[in-house]
Amino acid sequence: MTYLIHVEKVWDKQIWDNLLSLIKKDGQRCHLFLMAPQLDLQKSVHGYTGTNEELSEELAEKYTYLKKIQPKYRFKIAYHVHISLQPEKMSEEPKKKLFEDGLTWVRNIFPEINSVCFGWYKYDSYLKKLCDENGIKIVHFTPFAINLHDYDLTENSYTRKPFRLVRSKLRTLTYWWDLK
Ligand SMILES: [Zn+2]
Repeated sequence: MTYLIHVEKVWDKQIWDNLLSLIKKDGQRCHLFLMAPQLDLQKSVHGYTGTNEELSEELAEKYTYLKKIQPKYRFKIAYHVHISLQPEKMSEEPKKKLFEDGLTWVRNIFPEINSVCFGWYKYDSYLKKLCDENGIKIVHFTPFAINLHDYDLTENSYTRKPFRLVRSKLRTLTYWWDLK
């Protein structure tokens, strides 16, 4: 089982701590898709109240720490960016700027990044072309993987309960919806 984790809200201490505890328990199964600072989205979707500078500083500090512990816990790192729910309706220039500025930002800390997951799993042929030009492959779904957000580890947006670690019949550890 692999966890494809969209890292969106690590500026929240509880969510950061929960993500770290998963990494320290099961790092090798984790594939972290890191967002660059997207202030508008953070404010509108996650209720972030700081400035762009504060957000950039906060994410840079957290990602630099991930870089430091990566050799020990061996999780994978990739890029996560929210372009639009209808990217085909957006003109090329702002799409290019959003995609490439964010990629440059995360590659400042992780130059080896070579894969992306688009927010809402939405992209178009132009974004696919940009991915090819930047040596990036699109990873949305892989067999035997759970897609989740960092904040689902604290409180899943559907069940309002956190994922929890359970031992399956195969004695393998996995995360499951806490439906009880
Ligand atoms: Zn996302």
